[in-house]
Amino acid sequence: MLGVVDRANIVIIGGGVVGCAVAHAVAQRWSDVFLVEQMPRLGMGASTRNSGVIHSGIYYPPGSLKARMCVSGNRLLHEFCAAHNVPHRNCGKLVVAQGSGQEAVLEHLAENGRANGVEGLRLVDRATIYAKEPHIVASAALEVPSTGIVSAEDLVKTLARLATDRGANLLPRARVVRLDPRTDSIAVTIAEGEASQATGAAAEETIEARCVINCAGLYADEIAALLGNRSYRIYPVRGEYCELVRAKSYLVNNLVYPLPHSDGLSLGVHLTRTLWGTVLVGPTADYISDKNDYERNRLPVEEFLRRAKPMLPEIEAADLQLAYSGIRAKLAPPEHVGFTDFVIARDPVAERAIQLVGIESPGLTSCLAIAERVVSLAAEILEG
Ligand SMILES: Cc1cc2nc3c(=O)[nH]c(=O)nc-3n(C[C@H](O)[C@H](O)[C@H](O)COP(=O)(O)OP(=O)(O)OC[C@H]3O[C@@H](n4cnc5c(N)ncnc54)[C@H](O)[C@@H]3O)c2cc1C
Repeated sequence: MLGVVDRANIVIIGGGVVGCAVAHAVAQRWSDVFLVEQMPRLGMGASTRNSGVIHSGIYYPPGSLKARMCVSGNRLLHEFCAAHNVPHRNCGKLVVAQGSGQEAVLEHLAENGRANGVEGLRLVDRATIYAKEPHIVASAALEVPSTGIVSAEDLVKTLARLATDRGANLLPRARVVRLDPRTDSIAVTIAEGEASQATGAAAEETIEARCVINCAGLYADEIAALLGNRSYRIYPVRGEYCELVRAKSYLVNNLVYPLPHSDGLSLGVHLTRTLWGTVLVGPTADYISDKNDYERNRLPVEEFLRRAKPMLPEIEAADLQLAYSGIRAKLAPPEHVGFTDFVIARDPVAERAIQLVGIESPGLTSCLAIAERVVSLAAEILEG
C-alpha cells in the first residue's frame, strides 16, 4: 500500500475528525503527508458516535484551550460547512433551569460564556421557552444562538476528500505498532491490513517521518507511550443514547440541555433534534474499563426517562428506544472533580512529535481550530 515511499514530512496517527482536519490543514503547506488509521474506514471512533453539536463555548474556563478552540472552532466550522455543503443547521440551543437555585447557575454560565467571547447569550423566561419549545418545562433558560448541529460523518468525509485533493495520503487499515524517535526523524512502524491467518502477523512497513502528530483519540496515551512519554492516561467514559420513537419526535424542536454536571464529567443528558428529524436523548456518562466496550451492560430506557422527564414531562418509557453509544477520551480519573483541558503540545522529550491528548467534547466543534494550532507547532518542527 505504501509502495516505495518510506519518508514523510508528517505522519498523522488516527483518522477521526481531528486527524482528518489536521491532514487537511497541514497538506496545504507541506507535501508527503500521511494519515494512518487502524480501522477499515475513517471516523469510526468518537468522531461519529457523538451528539453532532457545534458547541458555542459557554462551559469552559476563560483562557483554557477548550474555550479558545471551541469559540474559534464554532465559527470556522459553520463557515466550512457552508462553503463545502456539509449538512448542518444553525439552530441555537436552550440550557434550562428548574427553579431559582438553578437559575443562578444559568447566570454564571452566561457570564462565563461572555468572558469566552460567545455572542448573543440571553436569559429567557417561560413564555419565550414555550414559544420555542412548547413541550419543555423549565422556569428559565439560557438561550445560546451560536450553537448548531452538524453531520459528523459528512464532515469527516469532506475533510478527508479535501485533504486527499491537497495531496495527503490517507491510509485506512494501517495500525501504528512502534514508534522510534531518532535525531532527525521518528520511525513509524505500521501493521497493514488484517493479521494473516497463516502467520498471525500483519505485514509491517516503516516510514521515516520528520514530524509525527498523535491524533489517536482513546488510544492517544498508548501512542504517547510508544514515543516514550508515559505521563498520560486516558480513562474511557461511555456515553449512551436513546432515541424518541418517531411519533414523539415532534416534542423537541431543537437542542435542549439541562445544567452541566457540577463535577465536570459531562454536559448532562440532553435532547437533540438531529438533522434527520429524530430526537436523541443522552449521552449518559459512566467510566468503563475497556476502551472498546460500546454495548455491554447498556442502561435501561427507564434511566433515560428519569433524567429527561423533568424537562420533558410528556414522555414515557414506551416512547424511548436504545440507540448508539460513544466513548469519551477523558484525562480525568473517576475521583477527579473539576476541569481538565485539552493537551495540544509538542512532546517535551520526543521533539518531533505533537501530542493531542484528552480531545473529548468539544473536540468535534474545535477540529478546525485545533488543526490551525497544530500547523503552527508543525512549522516549529519542520521549519524552525
Ligand atoms: C458520547 C459523546 C458525545 C460527544 N458529543 C460531542 C458534541 O456534541 N460536540 C462536540 O464538539 N464534541 C462531542 N464529542 C467529542 C468528539 O466526538 C471528540 O472530541 C472527537 O470526535 C475527537 O476526535 P478524534 O479524531 O480525536 O478521535 P477519534 O474519532 O476517536 O479518532 C481517533 C482515531 O485514531 C485511531 N487510532 C487509534 N490508535 C491507532 C493506531 N495505533 N494506529 C492507527 N490508528 C489509530 C482510532 O481508530 C480512531 O479512528 C462527544 C464525544 C462522545 C464520546
